[in-house]
Amino acid sequence: MSTRPEDHASQHSRPSELKITDIRTATVGWEGWRFPIIRIDTNQGLSGYGEVRDGASKNYALMLKSRLLGENPCNVDKVFRKIKQFGHHARQGGGVCGVEMALMDLAGKAYGVPAYVLAGGKFRDAIRMYCDTPNEPTGEAMGHKLKERMSHGFTMLKMDIGIQPLIGEKNTLTYPAGILKTDDGTELDRMLDINSIQHPFTHVRLTPKGIEMLCEYVEQVRAVVGYEVPIAADHFGHIGVDDCIRLGEALEPFNLAWLEDMVPWQFTDQWAKMERALKTPVCTGEDIYLKEGFLPLLQAHAVNVIHPDLATSGGILEQYGAPHGRYTDQYNGRRAMCRRH
Ligand SMILES: [Mg+2]
Repeated sequence: MSTRPEDHASQHSRPSELKITDIRTATVGWEGWRFPIIRIDTNQGLSGYGEVRDGASKNYALMLKSRLLGENPCNVDKVFRKIKQFGHHARQGGGVCGVEMALMDLAGKAYGVPAYVLAGGKFRDAIRMYCDTPNEPTGEAMGHKLKERMSHGFTMLKMDIGIQPLIGEKNTLTYPAGILKTDDGTELDRMLDINSIQHPFTHVRLTPKGIEMLCEYVEQVRAVVGYEVPIAADHFGHIGVDDCIRLGEALEPFNLAWLEDMVPWQFTDQWAKMERALKTPVCTGEDIYLKEGFLPLLQAHAVNVIHPDLATSGGILEQYGAPHGRYTDQYNGRRAMCRRH
């Protein structure tokens, strides 16, 4: 009697003989968003689907093709170890992660089980989703947008409250001319493109009036939606850690669920400084590649909430497998997942 596991599972094919033959892509999108979807084909008619991260290029996945052809997609860990050197943080991880998702889809189809069975089994039947909300011109408008989200059944919310609405408002921001997208920069100033400088190094600072205006904005939001529903905040813009702390302290009366990505995730010491200074939880992680990337933050107790993105952090096994959860539990962290759909 055979002892091969696949002989005891319902299957559409013979998994041990399955081979990858092709990788195809289709990019879908709307309102400026684009989502490259990949399909990995096999020699037995089974196909698996994955998603390269929103806004990323399909080429991050296509460049892996020569490493995938001829591989058995059921060997998810082996293939993942072969390709993970070609991923990096943020959207650069999208190709490796999309392929891993497609491999898990294929392995699940081959063995006739859902992907979560391959990742350690089901944990729960439903998950709470928060709903994100991009910038609105006033706090009141944001409040009504959030109310609309609640009317659709969302019980946890997120909003953008960055410095963007302050640009052009007199005496709210201090910054080197040209670093922000205004008309007062010279050509030389514009060489200091904000897109090539990380948040802490822009010399953009909030004035007391700027902080007051952002607090008024959040006060308006709370006046519309009340204090019962958790609201997280994201996209603060290019300011340094000291101003993050000044703003975070000023926002404390509004009981925000977390302050997200105030500085880039790589700056563990700055996150630790913020975490110690603020009584509001702080959160980062959507741009971290592989579980090891989360360790320095967790070991330093530098964040209260980690926020992995399935399409950057390494895919399904890296995301749902025991290590991630174990890391978070071990360091008393909370976890929120980042995904855009
Ligand atoms: Mg975010």
